[in-house]
Amino acid sequence: MKSQTSISVKKFGGTSVGTVERIQNLAARIKRELKPGVAPVLVVSAMAGETNRLVALSRQIDPNYTGAAYDMLLASGEQVSVALLSMALIKLGLKAKPYLAHQLGIITDSMYSKARIQKINTDVILKDVADGVIPVVAGFQGVDEFGEITTLGRGGSDTTAVALAAAIGAGECEIYTDVPAVYTADPRLVPEAREIPKLSFEEMIEMASLGSKVLHVRSVEIGAKYNVRIHLRSTFEEREGTWVVPEGEIMENPLVTGLTHEATTSVLKLFPLPPGTKSLSQLFEALAQRGVVVDIITQSDGEQGQRLAFSVPKDDAVHSVEVVKKVFPELKNIEVMDGVSKVSIVGVGMRNHPGVAATFFSTLAKANIAVHLVTTSEIKVSAIIESRHLEQAAKALHAAFELDQAN
Ligand code: ASP
Ligand code: MG
Repeated sequence: MKSQTSISVKKFGGTSVGTVERIQNLAARIKRELKPGVAPVLVVSAMAGETNRLVALSRQIDPNYTGAAYDMLLASGEQVSVALLSMALIKLGLKAKPYLAHQLGIITDSMYSKARIQKINTDVILKDVADGVIPVVAGFQGVDEFGEITTLGRGGSDTTAVALAAAIGAGECEIYTDVPAVYTADPRLVPEAREIPKLSFEEMIEMASLGSKVLHVRSVEIGAKYNVRIHLRSTFEEREGTWVVPEGEIMENPLVTGLTHEATTSVLKLFPLPPGTKSLSQLFEALAQRGVVVDIITQSDGEQGQRLAFSVPKDDAVHSVEVVKKVFPELKNIEVMDGVSKVSIVGVGMRNHPGVAATFFSTLAKANIAVHLVTTSEIKVSAIIESRHLEQAAKALHAAFELDQAN
């Protein structure tokens, strides 16, 4: 006979397991919310602050080290939390078992500290579910083909959870966190920000890659690819939060759905590069090989050669300069601009409406805010501005696009 059990993947962030007391409360909630015929599979992050503590330890030894040892160190935080949560569940009379990535077979590539999941073996989990055992899975980590421990990038437990849901064939994944929803802007920057009840995968992917830290961007990409609806909600309140769903499920789209910012950006300006597309392709290939995600690029040809400017995450600025020097040892000018931020607006509604970019720039112009680099896509407009203008820009744009008003 076919089993009637459905599987519900639930991920709990660092604050949900931040103390022993919270872990006990969480175990009690999981027990209280058990439903017949629904088997929970849990994914857990490290206890709040733990991963930062580990990063700081390694930075004392070498601020620029990346490699297998760094990932092994960072992955240790999750080992503690899965073990403690399992013990708390067992103490309440439930059957539970903690798992690290290598015990399940969460296989990744070998791009340390930003590894990508390639395959998940679900045999062990499905057997546990059949036996009435609750699997408690360490988020954020994987194992590569050489048996080394890898990590998926900061915030990567979300990705473990959604990838696991996809591998199991679950249609949904719940992400429990310390905020109740995705907001129209970061409320610490824009106090008028409102909760967004529902938004599309595509919008959430843009927001996450443009700086919103609420969901790991890979988790949303996997959700979109495998049709796993993501429900982001609070650990501390028993109510619904934000649903990230296929675009077709949303009837009315506002012009702009949300505003995002990235306070830790750097811009590299290079001059003069050898003429031709070949030098660009050499540079960006080398950066990609180093694992640097280049964001906004502008290029222009001048009499003395090409001018190029591009933005990268601040953490990648040092590596990027190294790559540039390697590819162009003769290059005269490399300027690194720090203290810049990116502010972006996102919304599928702007696809069929002209004038969004015009409002964006006129709003910044009215506030006398200079724009350094710009990029747009069908559903976003982004600008690099000086960080000292960030708050003012965010508030002005949030108001200009009426994000503070219920629609
Ligand atoms: N513990 C990891 C981090 O702090 C992964 C996560 O929380 O999702 O980045
Ligand atoms: Mg997170």
